[in-house]
Amino acid sequence: RAKAEGRGCYRIFTAAMDETVKVRGAIEEELREALATGVGLEVAYQPQVAGAGKPIVGLEALVRWRHPGRGMILPDQFIPVAEQTGLIAQIGELVMRDACSTSRQWPNLFISVNLSPVQFRGEGFAERMIQIARENGTDPRKIELEITEGVLLDDEGQTAQTLKALREAGFRIALDDFGTGYSSLGYLHRYEVDKIKIDRSFVNSLGKEDSATAIVSAIIALGQAMKLTVTAEGVETQEQERFLRSAGCDELQGYRYSKALDREQVARLLDPTPRLEQRSALTIAPST
Ligand code: C2E
Ligand code: MG
Ligand code: MG
Ligand code: MG
Repeated sequence: RAKAEGRGCYRIFTAAMDETVKVRGAIEEELREALATGVGLEVAYQPQVAGAGKPIVGLEALVRWRHPGRGMILPDQFIPVAEQTGLIAQIGELVMRDACSTSRQWPNLFISVNLSPVQFRGEGFAERMIQIARENGTDPRKIELEITEGVLLDDEGQTAQTLKALREAGFRIALDDFGTGYSSLGYLHRYEVDKIKIDRSFVNSLGKEDSATAIVSAIIALGQAMKLTVTAEGVETQEQERFLRSAGCDELQGYRYSKALDREQVARLLDPTPRLEQRSALTIAPST
């Protein structure tokens, strides 16, 4: 009887595995197609503000996949497959090119680009980034590269070298999801970065758990002491905003200000066209 049960379990297990493998295979195939045709992969931009009621200072590039059958797919659902199949390098370059052209459109803002650890460790990665910026006529100082602990985790000296090359070219480096890794402080000590982004799980717990308040205050104080810019992600409420502002957080990002937008929506936000009345008032003005 035990044997029968065991066999049953085994069968269910393989069926589930088959399903996973099939889905993964399908995603891989469709991702390849999207990359080959240039249709489906898009970049959305989430505004970052210099504080409550203050202007937009930056935009974070967030990749989206508009799938013909399955609708909009978020990065958490396909980045892991892209990493396992090596397609992340091409996706990363697509995002970087889009970010460069967005940067040209709004040169007063910085554009943040997320880097996958797999992409970061690729052969000649820093050189490719520098080349893409150059080809697009973009000043690397306007591009901020967001890395996570995963990037810094393996250390054979290669990581430090790549970071150094990127910073020397002018790119700024931000530590994303700060505080969630195992050794965030160690990395701050070892690598030169420009900014830390407080993970949204801490921001979300503000006012709910005392430990979150203590952690967020400590991260902001640490950033200030190290002369780094501190950004809070996932700001949704006025209470969170008030706390972050009083604690001295430099930049805020979250649904309270805006979700990620397509480029046209960003344009409407940043370069609003004068309404008809205003425009005619302007044209009439000189003759009166
Ligand atoms: P992340 O870099 O930490 O990006 C912030 C994520 O939080 C985004 O999700 C954003 O839409 C979401 N978010 C922003 N404000 C709020 C808020 O107020 N509340 C809540 N609940 N969420 C908020 P998204 O776009 O789904 O991206 C998820 C993750 O996927 C990103 O986390 C990043 O790690 C990764 N990712 C996104 N785009 C790229 C890319 O081009 N390349 C790579 N390698 N990874 C990417
Ligand atoms: Mg990010
Ligand atoms: Mg983050
Ligand atoms: Mg993240």
